[in-house]
Amino acid sequence: MVKMCKKHDPKQKNQLIALFFFFLYNKPMEYQGKATLEKITSLAKRRGFVFQSSEIYGGQNGAWDYGPLGIELKNRVAGAWWKEMTQLHDDIVGLDAAILMHPRTWEASGHVENFTDPLVDCKKCKSRFRADMVPEENLAAKKCPECGGELTDTRKFNLMFKTHIGPAEDTASVIYLRPETAQGIYVNYKNIIQSNRMKIPFGIAQIGKAFRNEIVTKNFIFRTCEFEQMEMQFFVKPGSDDEWFNEWRKRRWAYYEKLGVKMDHLRWHQHGPDELAHYAKDAYDIQYLFPMGWRELEGVHNRTNYDLTRHTQFSGKDMQYIDQDNNNERYIPYIIETSAGLTRNVLMILCDAYDEEQVADKGNDDDWRTVLRFHPRLAPVTVAVLPLMKKDGLAELAQDIRRELKEDFATDYDQAGAIGRRYRRQDEAGTPFCVTVDYQSKEDGTVTLRFRDSMEQARVPKQELAARLRREIKEYKRVK
Ligand code: ATP
Repeated sequence: MVKMCKKHDPKQKNQLIALFFFFLYNKPMEYQGKATLEKITSLAKRRGFVFQSSEIYGGQNGAWDYGPLGIELKNRVAGAWWKEMTQLHDDIVGLDAAILMHPRTWEASGHVENFTDPLVDCKKCKSRFRADMVPEENLAAKKCPECGGELTDTRKFNLMFKTHIGPAEDTASVIYLRPETAQGIYVNYKNIIQSNRMKIPFGIAQIGKAFRNEIVTKNFIFRTCEFEQMEMQFFVKPGSDDEWFNEWRKRRWAYYEKLGVKMDHLRWHQHGPDELAHYAKDAYDIQYLFPMGWRELEGVHNRTNYDLTRHTQFSGKDMQYIDQDNNNERYIPYIIETSAGLTRNVLMILCDAYDEEQVADKGNDDDWRTVLRFHPRLAPVTVAVLPLMKKDGLAELAQDIRRELKEDFATDYDQAGAIGRRYRRQDEAGTPFCVTVDYQSKEDGTVTLRFRDSMEQARVPKQELAARLRREIKEYKRVK
């Protein structure tokens, strides 16, 4: 040790410096935001974003209800994705397939056989774990990571919810709640080619519910038994699949950039050979840095021609594409899938937007504000109209202004309490703009437009409000 310090080898020194910088820059980033899942869960309940399902009965695990602000946020996140996928792409069309599908679908897709998680139980404390989430040393020693009790052998557990259709509970009427929306697209792909004259390459987009009997549901709405997916399946000619796979990776990354998400909170994770699904040739996850760490947000998968080949075998129907522009060449298309969780995206947007900020130094609770810095296109309420006072005709004037804005914007109206408190309430709901109507408004027809992020205010003639808001939304850039 002493020797090393005395004798400086410049080459070795440079190597050490290079190593230091390599670790500095390649160190996995840790979450440094102000959100915690406890804070997000409590804010979500307090403000009516998300409630525990069946709370009065003690709650139903793995299921959540979206309140007035939550449904607006979820609809806007879904709307942004839908617009991106359908409106902005001439070669993608939409679909809304049924949740209940013919049970053969799930035999063909491989879900009956393969859609399993490894499961272990603790014989002592009765806790249940996904084996791949138990520390290796505990699994090897069969020791419960929670109480030290003995673990059972690993068993395979199918994640599909099984139920019966029709009055007789026999095997002929077994039916599954779909575990992914994708299969509804595959079984309809020929219908869509015929009805809409689609030509390869083309895509089908769908948003809908999916159900998985998850062994462990935790982290609020991150992993639930009932959730929503936003999936787009892109049908391509075999041989062009690698190129399209890379193209869709690029597009999905650019999408989150456009959504205004903190880009240093996103990264790619390529599936290793032991992670790849039975149908996949290559797969990348977009991971987001949640308060509990890096977790999957969306998957981009090259599903090959596996699904359509299997549906050909199981249904007896020809799933080949006939290329009329190319001498009626026939082939089973390859599929590039982009599969994102809608409800998981909602959690991501909540975490991404969450901030706490000191805004005064008076030594009381009001010094700090909690603010959700949603992109104005995603915010549940775009503009809140607040009369400074209820009296002297200010409330009526404010109501008139709200009525005019309502046609084009999601609005709220609040006349209760001090104006500062009302601003804070809107900050916490993520409302990007507040319009305050005061005595001057009565005189000269101007109002105060208050900006959530900077808390700056501008005086605007009320007839110019709508145009100004439209411009602010279009030019919005997140600064914090
Ligand atoms: P995970 O590894 O998190 O279980 P997965 O790889 O099984 O996810 P996919 O089958 O690829 O997920 O589903 C696509 C997307 O659907 C995921 O990226 C995720 O956003 C969402 N998703 C999957 N399972 C759930 C769930 N139980 N609750 C909420 N969202 C989910």
